[in-house]
Amino acid sequence: MDLLITGGRLVDGARRDILIETGRIAAVGSVPHAGAAGVIDASGLVVMPGLVDGHRHVWQAALRGLGPDMTLPAYLDEVLGRIAPSLDAGEARLATLLGAAEALDAGITTVFDFSNVIRSAEHGDAVLDAYATAGVRAVLGHDTVPATSGLVTPAVAVHADPLRQIRLARDRGVIATMHAGGGGGQVRGLHAAGLLGPHLHLVHVNGMTPEEAELLAGTGTTVTVTPVVEATMGHGRSPWSTFAAAGGRAGLGTDVMVNAPADLFEPLRDTLRTHRMDTGTMHPAGDLLATVTSGSARAIGLGGVTGAIEPGLAADLVLLDGFAHLADDADVTGAVVTTAGVRDVHTVIVNGRVVKRDGRLTTVDLPGLRRVSAERFARFFQ
Ligand SMILES: [Zn+2]
Repeated sequence: MDLLITGGRLVDGARRDILIETGRIAAVGSVPHAGAAGVIDASGLVVMPGLVDGHRHVWQAALRGLGPDMTLPAYLDEVLGRIAPSLDAGEARLATLLGAAEALDAGITTVFDFSNVIRSAEHGDAVLDAYATAGVRAVLGHDTVPATSGLVTPAVAVHADPLRQIRLARDRGVIATMHAGGGGGQVRGLHAAGLLGPHLHLVHVNGMTPEEAELLAGTGTTVTVTPVVEATMGHGRSPWSTFAAAGGRAGLGTDVMVNAPADLFEPLRDTLRTHRMDTGTMHPAGDLLATVTSGSARAIGLGGVTGAIEPGLAADLVLLDGFAHLADDADVTGAVVTTAGVRDVHTVIVNGRVVKRDGRLTTVDLPGLRRVSAERFARFFQ
């Protein structure tokens, strides 16, 4: 036995043990306690699947707070045009390590990293080294299918030549991810080219029309919404409800780090509020947890790998403090969706490895990393 988590309360309200063997969930239920190499007593804690961030520019953690009023053109010019190309491989590693550490600290065990700092094989290796050091699971998106290792799955990040890049991804059996606006014929064009489908992952799509929602949902094309950044930078209103009305289920992401928080609790609550206002209904809060767990995992091609607490799936788990007072018949999932924050993230496990324990990361000295990063990247804030 590798690791046994005892007495925790799952989000369905039941108290169950979880047995982890070789990085996977081996059993959920009442498990004999003898023989486990390690035991975590989760009494009083809520145990939920690790959160999955469907769209993040991980390295931009180093630029936190740089652009509170940045518009998209200014961001493209300054962050992607001027800053990103100036990072050497060591800096790409440092910035990505900081971003991966902040994600894990917030209970995000998997990130889809639309990495804008990789401009050489050395940069690519540096980014992979950062993921491995922090201990995060990642899908790495790059212009072509990138080399990967460890807990990293490759993907194609589309920007230069969409039709060619989406075909490349489909032919190679990986996800193609693309920033998309929606509403301007782009989705219809992709449909006409035969390129919609589960291999294509669209991000934002704020202008999504009901017709586009039908096309996307009907073809199994996946969508990730990043509502905080989309509202902050003026991309538009969240299309989550439009997609849902067509039977689609968008996952959530954080996106740029220059003007958005590093956690998924804020996009999650933003989505709940917007959806309730858009539909005029009291859509159950707990139902939305799937948008940052199994739903996000499926959107980025990791359905059946992570995002749920089931035997056979990766042991990617988050233990939350702060809910011990809830009654036995309480709606635990709804309580988490409406009130949880980074401060509640007590323990984080990725692929069976404990990366945060009792509120502190075990793999990275986060305060120290912040100091090193602040010195190294001071030039961007002058
Ligand atoms: Zn983005």
